[in-house]
Amino acid sequence: MTQKEFLAMLDQQRIVDAIAAAEKRTSGEIRVHVQPLARGDIRTVAEKTFERLGMTRTALRNGVLLFIACEEQRFTILGDRGIDEKVPAGFWDEIAAKLTIRFQHGELTDGIVEAIESAGRQLGAYFPRASDDVDELANEINIEP
Ligand code: CA
Ligand code: CA
Repeated sequence: MTQKEFLAMLDQQRIVDAIAAAEKRTSGEIRVHVQPLARGDIRTVAEKTFERLGMTRTALRNGVLLFIACEEQRFTILGDRGIDEKVPAGFWDEIAAKLTIRFQHGELTDGIVEAIESAGRQLGAYFPRASDDVDELANEINIEP
């Protein structure tokens, strides 16, 4: 699938709305990034992207990036170090496993929305949303060629 085809199947508004809804449960800040190819170790590329997008600039270091290399049909979920320090190992595994199946079935938007909902729910246990919560990272999908 080309990135153009992938994006055509994506309901971006639903995804942005899902991020906003998830962030009503948690102070964690969720974003989605889409590019065609990771060109190498997806984890390393995602980490660089995380930095470049300024996602380390949250007070509790609890940003989360769903990084998608759409033409390689690969993704990774990256949480900032504040999350790694608090949650058990394999915290993202179940979400990632479900999303993998969704992608295999071509259920892109549904899968991403489900992953965001789950991330918000799970993060809420460790990073509850305070009444004075600030939207530290704009709820958006970052798309790059
Ligand atoms: Ca917030
Ligand atoms: Ca946000």
